[in-house]
Amino acid sequence: MKHTREACLIADQQDPLAGFRQRFDLPANTIYLDGNSLGVLPKGALERSQQVITREWGHDLIRSWNTAGWFDMPTRLGDKLAPLLGADPGETVVTDTTSLNLFKALAAALRIQRQAHPERKVILSERDNFPTDLYMIQGMIEFLQQGYELRLIDEALPLEQALDDKVAVLLLSHVNYRTGYLYDMAAVTHSAHQCGALAIWDLAHAAGALQVDLNGADADFAVGCTYKYLNGGPGSPAFIWVAPRHQNAFWQPLSGWWGHAKPFEMATDYAPAQGIRRFLCGTQPIVSLALLECGLDVAREVDSQQLRAKSLALTDLFIELVEQRCGGHPLTLITPREHVRRGSHVSFRHPQGFAVMQALIANGVIGDYREPEVLRFGVTPLYLSHADIWDAVEILREILDSGSWDRPEFHRRGAVT
Ligand SMILES: *Cc1c(COP(=O)(O)O)cnc(C)c1O
Repeated sequence: MKHTREACLIADQQDPLAGFRQRFDLPANTIYLDGNSLGVLPKGALERSQQVITREWGHDLIRSWNTAGWFDMPTRLGDKLAPLLGADPGETVVTDTTSLNLFKALAAALRIQRQAHPERKVILSERDNFPTDLYMIQGMIEFLQQGYELRLIDEALPLEQALDDKVAVLLLSHVNYRTGYLYDMAAVTHSAHQCGALAIWDLAHAAGALQVDLNGADADFAVGCTYKYLNGGPGSPAFIWVAPRHQNAFWQPLSGWWGHAKPFEMATDYAPAQGIRRFLCGTQPIVSLALLECGLDVAREVDSQQLRAKSLALTDLFIELVEQRCGGHPLTLITPREHVRRGSHVSFRHPQGFAVMQALIANGVIGDYREPEVLRFGVTPLYLSHADIWDAVEILREILDSGSWDRPEFHRRGAVT
């Protein structure tokens, strides 16, 4: 189909989610294609931050642990997030970082497996997984000193071959951070269980981008970020979900007082709380949690089928427009075309990807660059329109046609890419 800007404007008029754009404060003259890295500012967040800082902290001070419900925020927000994950109340807490929660989930899964299948010594992940997932596995192996090894799926070793009776735990990202590849969570979890392994899912690029169904997939553990598609704010706390069948089998390796059954008895001995609270460690960043709630409140109003339909429509549009309008340039799509295998971002390789992305950013189109050579565009259906996608691709086309990306300033690298 040949697209036009007029057709994009008509599609925007018919978009049932168009109204959600008004719920966010978006900078002018910017097309933000990086909501999969840092989400945007919900309109209510400024007022909420004033309330939590001025009244709850400034005036009510320590009383706010009780009067403003600070103490229960990790579980209360976990329950708010749960429907987006296909989870039930009492199964999720919002706390710590994704990396730390990976450590807890891995420790929990390995402990269960050591009791059931002590001979299983392989932790299976993917070479192309987000680095922190691999680093946390490596750290756990080093920490435990029990002969575990990391095995990685890649082109030479597909999942079906890699899953054998040595695998204790399978840790995968539901949506690949670089390519946008989406795993069939239910099928992969089923294969893992069939071979006796437990499945941990990293939902960093899935939560808030598409409906997840953890209980439907019979998953074991899941972790994920809230500062990406959930618009929780920079560094907002992550989440951890644990299937109820595993919750009380878990021994918290980071056994801080917030996971204690009775933290204010100040007992000498650690006794874990029942249920999901045992996944907490220490005092939580209340201001960040309060801001995250603003993002969650918007996300909870969205119809998940409409969200997915718009995400696929916009990513289809992006791919087709790049192919139609930037045809002569060396761009290679690395995101799956098949809808059931695609998350909510689109990535292309370009030999000068870094400089092309800097030129795009200088022209108001913010995406990001990922090694090697990857231009990554996050497509967030809540606040992007079809016309935004059209305009972004037009700017990309101008940059490529004119060669303006090759200016020296676009080749300089900062600390964060
Ligand atoms: C963004 C991301 C993370 C980030 O982890 P933090 O501990 O929050 O820095 C982890 N895993 C994946 C797959 C990610 O995309």
